[in-house]
Amino acid sequence: MNKTGYHLHNRVLKLNVGFLLSDNVTAAHSHDSLLDFPSVRVADDLTVDYINGPLRLSRTKEGILVQADFRVGIVDQCYRCLKSFNREVEVHIEELFTYGPSVSAEFWINADGILDLGPLVREEVIIEASHRTLCQLDCQGICPNCGKNLNDGPCDCVHDEIDPRLAKLRELLDKGH
Ligand SMILES: [Zn+2]
Ligand SMILES: [Zn+2]
Repeated sequence: MNKTGYHLHNRVLKLNVGFLLSDNVTAAHSHDSLLDFPSVRVADDLTVDYINGPLRLSRTKEGILVQADFRVGIVDQCYRCLKSFNREVEVHIEELFTYGPSVSAEFWINADGILDLGPLVREEVIIEASHRTLCQLDCQGICPNCGKNLNDGPCDCVHDEIDPRLAKLRELLDKGH
């Protein structure tokens, strides 16, 4: 989430590729561009802080081949201390968008010549973001006793270095005194 709370609509990811579909023999068959967007609401369940990187659209017999290497800023959650933090994922895309729906294709260009990168970017980012990550390499985690985030400093609990599996045993031994 960026500070202003303002996000571009995901229509910015709907590309009009009509110019590549032209029958004009002199028309270019591929088009390179550089995507550079601030925060975009890619889908209802995914808002990214930025997307940037090279994008190539190439016309083939079956459709438009999309090749891209995007850097995407996302908000992730540390799996050890559960704190949200910003990080960047790299998304490598190589996907054919067929001319109209096809049983074998997952993505296609609609009748208006619009190629919607949104669902593809969403899918790729979610795959990348599913890898378990730490907010920092030496994340201290949270205290299992009081729940304090130990990256913010130690808590007042007494921490024994004892293995939790042995703690139960020691408790029993202590009772025996
Ligand atoms: Zn952490
Ligand atoms: Zn504690």
